[in-house]
Amino acid sequence: MNYKTIDDLGNLNGKVVMLRADLNVPMDENFNVTNTARIDRTVPTINELMNKGAKVVIISHFGRPEGKGDIKNSLTHIVKNLEKALGKKVTFVDDCIGEKVNNAIASMSNNEVLLLENLRFYNEEKKGDETFAEELVKPADFYVSDAFSTAHRAHASMVAAAKLRPSAMGRLMEEEVKALENALSNPTRPLIAIVGGSKVSTKLDLLNNLVKKVDKLVISGGMAHTFMRASGINTVNEANSLVQMDMLDTAKEIMQVAKSNNCEIILPQDVVVSKEFKPHAENKTVSLDEIPAEGWSLLDVGEKTISSINSKLDECKTLVWNGPLGVFEMKPFDNGTNRVAQHAAELTQAGKLMSVAGGGDTVSALENAGVANKFSYISTAGGAFLEWMEGKELPGVAVLKK
Ligand code: AMP
Repeated sequence: MNYKTIDDLGNLNGKVVMLRADLNVPMDENFNVTNTARIDRTVPTINELMNKGAKVVIISHFGRPEGKGDIKNSLTHIVKNLEKALGKKVTFVDDCIGEKVNNAIASMSNNEVLLLENLRFYNEEKKGDETFAEELVKPADFYVSDAFSTAHRAHASMVAAAKLRPSAMGRLMEEEVKALENALSNPTRPLIAIVGGSKVSTKLDLLNNLVKKVDKLVISGGMAHTFMRASGINTVNEANSLVQMDMLDTAKEIMQVAKSNNCEIILPQDVVVSKEFKPHAENKTVSLDEIPAEGWSLLDVGEKTISSINSKLDECKTLVWNGPLGVFEMKPFDNGTNRVAQHAAELTQAGKLMSVAGGGDTVSALENAGVANKFSYISTAGGAFLEWMEGKELPGVAVLKK
């Protein structure tokens, strides 16, 4: 890897290490954390730093605060979850800069963990303000970042702070970057991508990057209908099939770039049409020349498409996946997504495929398919994962280059 890791920091015994984590976890109205994945996944980094004798000071953003003192968005609510995950006491300070913070850090012992208040209580955080970053790292000897999911933002705690101290990736960010490099920058070929979801317009950068990098590209979900129409298939009713008529030329251009890069595009060969947009609505699978003229929506891919995608997966060594193949939130229109996800999971478990998935609804779609822990790597990073797939450099990662 071309990035600095904890191994590059040297002796941490007795040193103050500031860890930029992403503790922006979902919470219910009674301030109970409903999914602790982001806390749990940064625990190995915290434990390793503590085992090396460091004083660990954790910083993070949380929610969209109105300003300082917005208790709804205080990180105090997650202290008990962090304590549970670490199996030890965590001290909380209700600010992230200033004398109170500096004093609390000065009185820390080795192996102790301190959590500071929400960084976004200061507008300077989002602005990438350097003076704020200086205040932030003032009491720290080292800077470590595990917040891959925020790495597409050049916020003060992500970039300016990293430049002010010897810095490195934590184990979580290291794991995420390695998985994504193995999938897109340095993959074992053939490399296949599955892109689904609702609209072409939101995935243009993604598609434009992928057609230049992957050997096969499955375009599915609602967005496939625009590509089908652009390929001369009559998807009939634009309103009910998410066809973006203003994107037809763009779709054609993407297919042209794919062709000149020897990237095979795989579009649906049959579709599941439904009378209504609701679970268990009357539905049928039709071939492309049988799409009903009126009153039916295209909500999933059919059996022929599923078999075709699955046999393409058999030919490949690496898979990157973003977006569901159909309306996975409603049964039975999750069938296409589930069957392809399950096949990818089987190939992964058999050691035949390296599979990486993430972004938007993909994690829930794969959870719904029961395979979330059977892929090689599932990224919970959302926007950062997508920007990586779009080929963009993430400032919070780039700043940690060797
Ligand atoms: P995205 O956030 O762009 O990845 O889109 C995810 C959404 O696309 C999910 O909510 C799916 O229900 C939706 N989706 C996938 N296929 C279809 C389809 N054929 N018709 C309507 N919505 C779809």
